[in-house]
Amino acid sequence: MTAEESAQSALAAGDFSMWLTAMQGALRGENGSDVPCDGCTACCTSSQFVHIEPDEIDTLSHIPAELLFAAPLLPPGHVLLGYDERGHCPMLKAGRCSIYDHRPRTCRTYDCRVFPAAGIDGDEDKVQIRRRARRWEFAFPTFTDRIEHEAVRAAADFLARDRELVHGSPGANQTELAVLAIEIHTVFLGRDEDTGEAAVIAPNPDAVRAALAPPIGP
Ligand code: SF4
Repeated sequence: MTAEESAQSALAAGDFSMWLTAMQGALRGENGSDVPCDGCTACCTSSQFVHIEPDEIDTLSHIPAELLFAAPLLPPGHVLLGYDERGHCPMLKAGRCSIYDHRPRTCRTYDCRVFPAAGIDGDEDKVQIRRRARRWEFAFPTFTDRIEHEAVRAAADFLARDRELVHGSPGANQTELAVLAIEIHTVFLGRDEDTGEAAVIAPNPDAVRAALAPPIGP
């Protein structure tokens, strides 16, 4: 295997349903994401703005104020941490997060496995994240693992066809689409009428709209 092929080899993403449960908990703020990054800093070096909420007092106390600016379209107190001319987060020092134990909630919950989970690629301008995300391979030891994966993908397909439903459209990014697909996938789960087994269904669009969480408001 060449060095390049080795660099592109598959990464074990874990059992799908276990990952999905943990990811849903992370999105609800109940736990952080436990991503086996193994030294990868793609998400810290991809020209990303990191959203920090007003209640993240500890995080805010570890970031110089001059690196933060008000988050557009959000209430006062919501700020963004920008990136340098290379697209690197300014808190990344010597290839490591210099405030790891105090890093923003956005960083704690970020998990590039959302892309293979939703069956979509990352954003085109985030090349490193796309490369990394393409390498993850989930395991499907049970029927539930498979059907839940299909439901998340069905939700992503639905949202991709109707981008207006994705918060912040028309500029909504692939990350937001993938996260929303995870959040609403249960609307796409039902029962096969003949067998009674769990199955992916085509829900009423109004049910999908009802399942979508409202955007952050004042
Ligand atoms: S704060 Fe730390 S974890 Fe978050 S993007 Fe910056 S370097 Fe990465």
